[in-house]
Amino acid sequence: MFRNFKVVPHIIFGRGSFNQLDDILAEKRKDVGSFMVFLIDDVFSESGLKERIPVKDQDLLIWVNVNDEPKTKYVDKLTNKVRTYMESGSNDLPDGVIGIGGGSAMDLAKAVSLMLTNPGSSADYQGWDLIKNPAVYHVGIPTLSGTGAEVSRTTVLSGPEKKLGINSDYTVFDQIVLDPELISNAPADQRFYTGMDCYIHCVESLNGTYLNAFSKAYGEKAIELCREVFLKDRSDKNGPDKDGSDSDDKLMMASYFGGMSIAYSQVGVCHALSYGLSFVLGFHHGVGNCIAFDYLEEYYPEGVYEFRKMMKKHKIDLPRNLAAGIENKELEKMVDVALVLEPLWENALGTGWKKIITREKIKELYQRM
Ligand code: NAD
Ligand code: ZN
Repeated sequence: MFRNFKVVPHIIFGRGSFNQLDDILAEKRKDVGSFMVFLIDDVFSESGLKERIPVKDQDLLIWVNVNDEPKTKYVDKLTNKVRTYMESGSNDLPDGVIGIGGGSAMDLAKAVSLMLTNPGSSADYQGWDLIKNPAVYHVGIPTLSGTGAEVSRTTVLSGPEKKLGINSDYTVFDQIVLDPELISNAPADQRFYTGMDCYIHCVESLNGTYLNAFSKAYGEKAIELCREVFLKDRSDKNGPDKDGSDSDDKLMMASYFGGMSIAYSQVGVCHALSYGLSFVLGFHHGVGNCIAFDYLEEYYPEGVYEFRKMMKKHKIDLPRNLAAGIENKELEKMVDVALVLEPLWENALGTGWKKIITREKIKELYQRM
C-alpha cells in the first residue's frame, strides 16, 4: 500500500511575509466576538517581534516556555487554558491556533489545535492515526529552521511513558508562513543544531532502505542547500550573500525539503538514539542528534565525515561523556525508548535489523557518547 499523505495546503514564503499574517487570519475570523489563540515562544516576549504580532483585543496570547521540549502535561494545561477562556465568552472554539517559534512551539500549537476538538489527554493520542476529529485551523511560523515540523504530520511529545508524536493527517498545519527574517537572529549554536537536524534527516532518508524517487528528489535538494549554508564561504559559488542573509532563505527551504523527504521515507539510527537521549537526559532534539550522529560512522560514514567538517567550521563543541555517572536503570530506559522506534531501525538496516541491533549494541553506543 502506498501512503496517501497530506501536505500543507497554504504556504507563504519570503522576507517580510510575516507582515501578511493579519490578512491571512482576517479571512478566518468568523465574527466580531470570535478569537484566535497565539502560542509564542517566550524567548520573543521582550523582542521587536512582539509588536508585530497581529493580536486583536479579543484574542488570547500565550507565551510558551520551551526550556523543556513539549510534554503531554503541558499541552493539556495549555488546552485547558484555552477552554477556560472559551467559557468566559461564548464557549465557541477559537477560529485558529497560531504557533510561532522553533519546532517546540510549533508542535505545541499543533497539539493544542488537536486537543481542543478531541477529548481526553494528549498522552492518549501518542501514536499513529489515533486522532478522530479534525483540529481547529492552525498556522505554523518557524523562527528556527531544520526540524521540518512546519511540514510534518506529527507533533512530538514526551508523555508519562514515552517520547512519541501524535501522528495524523489532522496534525498537518493548514497554513505556514516561511519568513527567513524570523530565523536571522537565532543564536549560532542553536541554528547549527537545528540545521543539523535537517542535514541528518537527509542523510538518514537518502541512506535508508525506504528510499524512493520522491524522497530522494527532496532529500538531495535539501542536503545540497545544507552544504551551501554550512560549508560554503561567502567567496564561493553558491556561497552566502555578503550579509549572509540568503543562507537563511536556503536553510528555511532545506528544512521544508528535508521534512518532505522523510515524510515519504523515514529517519534512522541517529533519530532512534537521539529520542533516548532526549527522554532520559533532557537534551533538545537538535543537540541530541548531533551528540549521537558523531558516533555513527559505522552506519553513515560519509555523512559523519561531512558533519564533522561542518562542526569544525562552525566551532561547535558538543557535550561529551554523558554516560559517566548515569545509572544502569536510566541506560536501560534509553535503550527501551530507542528500540520502540521500529520503523526507524528497519529503514536504516532493512527488515533483518533485529539481528544487527541488540540491546547490548545500543548500550555500547550510548556508553561511548
Ligand atoms: P526549539 O523549538 O526546541 O528551540 C530551541 C531554543 O531556541 C529554545 O530555547 C527557543 O526558545 C529558542 N529559539 C527559537 N527560535 C529562536 C530565535 N529565532 N531566536 C532565539 N532563540 C530562539 O528548537 P528546534 O530545534 O526548532 O525544535 C526542536 C523540537 O522540535 C523538539 O521538541 C523536537 O521534538 C521537535 N521536532 C518536531 C518535529 C516534527 O515533525 N513535529 C521534527 C523534529 C523535531
Ligand atoms: Zn529530526
